[in-house]
Amino acid sequence: MSATTTDRADLLAIVTGHSRGLGEGIAQSLLERDVPVVGIARGGNASLARRFGKTLTQVTLDLSDPVAIERWLSSGVWKQGLELAGTVFLVNNSGVLQPIGPLQTQDPADVARAVAVNVGAVLMLSAAFVAATMEVKERRILHVSSGAGRKAYAGWSVYCATKAALDHHARAVALDATPRLRISSLAPGVVDTAMQAEIRATTTEHFPDKERFVTMKRESRLKRADTTGSAVVDFLLSDDFGSEPVSELPALR
Ligand code: NAP
Repeated sequence: MSATTTDRADLLAIVTGHSRGLGEGIAQSLLERDVPVVGIARGGNASLARRFGKTLTQVTLDLSDPVAIERWLSSGVWKQGLELAGTVFLVNNSGVLQPIGPLQTQDPADVARAVAVNVGAVLMLSAAFVAATMEVKERRILHVSSGAGRKAYAGWSVYCATKAALDHHARAVALDATPRLRISSLAPGVVDTAMQAEIRATTTEHFPDKERFVTMKRESRLKRADTTGSAVVDFLLSDDFGSEPVSELPALR
């Protein structure tokens, strides 16, 4: 699909976690390219709503709550726009880092929340998205993964495990060879968002690698959320998308 020649009226994207950070950058870049976006998060995005009132639809949904997700999916309302579009995208961006620390410090409720947001919701939305679009010309699913899904970090056992789950989900889905479906699990690099602030606020005892991220911030080596969002969308719209189920963004600032 060419990013310049496709008829935008024919496209529709669902983006989770559009309220801030990388998800906001991804949603903004899609909207700037006239791709209508359905943004899902607990909070809204007033700034995007102001700029793109006609093409942004906001859904308030807590992705840590599988019952609420199921209720929303079974309402069927969300499907209507999808069924009419020619090419549809699902960007599974929402994610949480907590709980940080070794097992004995992890609150089981936080573990359950992280698994629900980072994995459960992604798998539920992906299945419903594909089932609802069997007549659509092309479907693309992008999981926002992390280098932490590929390299283990002390203190991040839950986060690492959930991101590795996304990578393996994409690999297995690719083997299904579902007609007109492309999927990729993408590591975006280190992006200057609230999640990075959370990392810097952690104790070294809970996260021994903390200093590396503090140094990256001090040396302005974090990627910007808006330019990274735009690079993610370049990738999502590219002809190459989905040629590998697991991928990473090339270096950029
Ligand atoms: P962020 O600034 O903390 O934003 C997280 C987003 O996830 C927010 O929009 C938030 O929306 C949404 N979210 C969290 N809990 C949710 C819930 N229960 N229900 C619905 N949405 C929820 O983090 P970020 O850095 O932009 O992270 C975005 C993605 O990139 C994550 O998957 C993260 O793992 C991944 N990532 C980030 C980095 C990095 O360096 N920043 C690196 C690699 C991968 P609400 O709070 O409004 O619900």
